[in-house]
Amino acid sequence: MSHRRSKGLHELADEIAKLIDDPEPVSDDSTLAHVTPGEMVIPAAFLTPELIALLSAEARRHGVDPARFFVGSGRNSINPFTGQPEFFDPTEEEIEGITVTTPHEKGLVQLPQNFPNSGFYNYGTPVNGAGQYGAPAVMEVIGAAGKQWQQGGNAPMGVGNISLEHGGPFPPHSETGDHARGTGFDMRPIRKDRRPVGVDITSPEYDRDATQHEIETVRATEGVEKVFFNDTSIPGVERLDKHDNHIHFAIKPKYRRPPGR
Ligand SMILES: [Zn+2]
Repeated sequence: MSHRRSKGLHELADEIAKLIDDPEPVSDDSTLAHVTPGEMVIPAAFLTPELIALLSAEARRHGVDPARFFVGSGRNSINPFTGQPEFFDPTEEEIEGITVTTPHEKGLVQLPQNFPNSGFYNYGTPVNGAGQYGAPAVMEVIGAAGKQWQQGGNAPMGVGNISLEHGGPFPPHSETGDHARGTGFDMRPIRKDRRPVGVDITSPEYDRDATQHEIETVRATEGVEKVFFNDTSIPGVERLDKHDNHIHFAIKPKYRRPPGR
């Protein structure tokens, strides 16, 4: 990068920072996107012709069509399992199974985020997987169940809160339960339209049979201790307050995925 261009970027970054400090209220959002920490989304109001020219030149220097970066341009790459745009090339690699990274002191690892062909998608707050740390046993159950689910040709399962990075209290969950210890995870029931968003068991969009299939797929890993969910017409689930819109799986802490699963 030349000195001149580098200086230009610093000035633009300062301009943008000032604008971000004093944003105008905007409510034209109509698109969801996959983004990665470190990527930057620049609101349309900030896009001066100079900035567009600079960013376009930089994109071309990397051999990328700048149109790919404009939301709604029709040139965004589309995430294969949510159908939402993303702003960098998705990997073409087939990935077998799931990677379990070295555990932290507390023994918790992060669930992979936006993992292609894994059979699951990530949701939940805090975003970007900050609430998706769990015991390796949890990752192995999700990995094994996701693989079965994916091979069955199903739309990905939604996996939500597990625990915070170092465990401990994770409001609004119980202070001493699975979400404080990384030993359980939340999952969305399935919608009839298969969209990767939430649904309540009282909604006409709730697909009971598909949700039973989803729960059975997770239980088939043999790593599940208990299932809490308020559609008790599904065998093997127990009612628990506030579990109309998600399923809670309590996982056997010592579970390991059998070879080949
Ligand atoms: Zn839960």
